[in-house]
Amino acid sequence: MIVMKFGGTSVKNAEAIRNVINIAKNRNTKSVVVVSAFATVTNSLVKIIDSLKNDVNFALEEINKLQILHQNVANDLDISSEVNEFISLEFERFKMLATAINIIGEVSNKSKDLILSYGERLSLKIISIYAKNSGLNSKFVNSSEIIITDDSFTEAEVDFEATETVIKFKVLPIFNDFDVLICGGFIAGTIDGIITTLGRGGSDYSAGIIAAALEAELLDIYTDVDGILTTDPNLIKNAKLIKKLSYIEASELAYFGAKVLHPKTIFPAVKKNIEVRVLNSFNPHCDGTRIIGIKTNQNALKAIAFRKGITVINITSNRMLGAYGFLSKVFEVFKKHETSVDLVSTSEVSVSLTIDNKFNADKIIQELSEFSSIEFFDNKAIISVIGEGIRNTSGISARFFGILKDINIYMVSMGASEINLSIVVDEDNLKNAVVLLHDEFFSNELDSSIFEEIKR
Ligand code: ADP
Ligand code: ASP
Ligand code: MG
Repeated sequence: MIVMKFGGTSVKNAEAIRNVINIAKNRNTKSVVVVSAFATVTNSLVKIIDSLKNDVNFALEEINKLQILHQNVANDLDISSEVNEFISLEFERFKMLATAINIIGEVSNKSKDLILSYGERLSLKIISIYAKNSGLNSKFVNSSEIIITDDSFTEAEVDFEATETVIKFKVLPIFNDFDVLICGGFIAGTIDGIITTLGRGGSDYSAGIIAAALEAELLDIYTDVDGILTTDPNLIKNAKLIKKLSYIEASELAYFGAKVLHPKTIFPAVKKNIEVRVLNSFNPHCDGTRIIGIKTNQNALKAIAFRKGITVINITSNRMLGAYGFLSKVFEVFKKHETSVDLVSTSEVSVSLTIDNKFNADKIIQELSEFSSIEFFDNKAIISVIGEGIRNTSGISARFFGILKDINIYMVSMGASEINLSIVVDEDNLKNAVVLLHDEFFSNELDSSIFEEIKR
């Protein structure tokens, strides 16, 4: 049993969908195919949500555009007669929902998830009908019925026990009659059947959850690049392919900004020791990146990740000197305001930390000010170099800081895992710093058992 996930660009139009179904056919094994919304659709849904309160006409226009996009794909796949009624009904409901929300003047997170689910629900319907017509012995399943979460809408927490039970008893028996099961990524549901979502980019995570529940042999994440690269190819054109990564390296990379993988994807796979691969659906000859449960090459730095939109908060208090309980008091404030902290570094009288969600920043700063003095800096970026080599190779830090000698660094942090060295810089310096670091660590002769030039 294998699980394959195809991202938005891999199902962006009829030609891409035909390619996906061919890949599934050629694998010729019992499998689950997890599909994302067509490329750009979820972004449009977010725009629609943002305009519902004040500009319902814009929202209705965007909804019409989405309807046409889906009808065109169905038409190009020759399945209009089977799917158009479904598409029309879904969009009629969507417009009614949009109008109602505009009248109420409030968009709850529950309604947001219902709207966000349109992308994957529509792509699932279209792709699964096409798959059947093209001779694949397949059946579709609604993810809201098989991935069970709590009701933290827009970023729901998975109930792994309930999900595993449902998948074992409801999904596995389907394989007695069918070879391939197709389901939508990103969407899940509460135990009462209300639709939730797993957070942006969450289809990778859906695939990880299903793979773990089925104890699959392999989880293949198909995307639009050759695999995980040494950094974001949008920033560095000659980024190299990383052939092998350990689970922990891949998790850190995803967490610190490599969009190619949702940060939670690896966790379920680790529990069941499932190999994960990142592959290019448009380049079947490339072996992509293998993510495995053993250390890959202890002498190499593997990649550079980065995240923008970071705020640094410096908290200083003389009371911290020799006192206990100060840090717990600080973190209590972040917990209360449901804001997660990414990097932390402390001295005897101060603690610096970063957040990327400024939603409750004002309240946090006000509360921290009651017992310490606070400075905060917006528009920062975290840059992380990742690899087991950091722990094992001397001289990496010297090269790292040497090459960045002209760039102002606000914070430095080395995670307990010792495979991640992170710094905070001004967003304006981000590109320059990543270029310098990539040049320093990834332009010379590299270990060919780990890295590969990309044929462009
Ligand atoms: P999908 O729709 O298939 O889930 P995403 O857009 O979410 O695809 O992720 C793939 C994209 O991630 C790539 O096209 C690339 O622009 C970006 N990316 C950022 N960092 C990396 C990296 N280190 N390696 C590969 N791709 C990266
Ligand atoms: N369609 C969702 C998004 O764009 C989930 C995904 O593609 O992974 O965020
Ligand atoms: Mg993605």
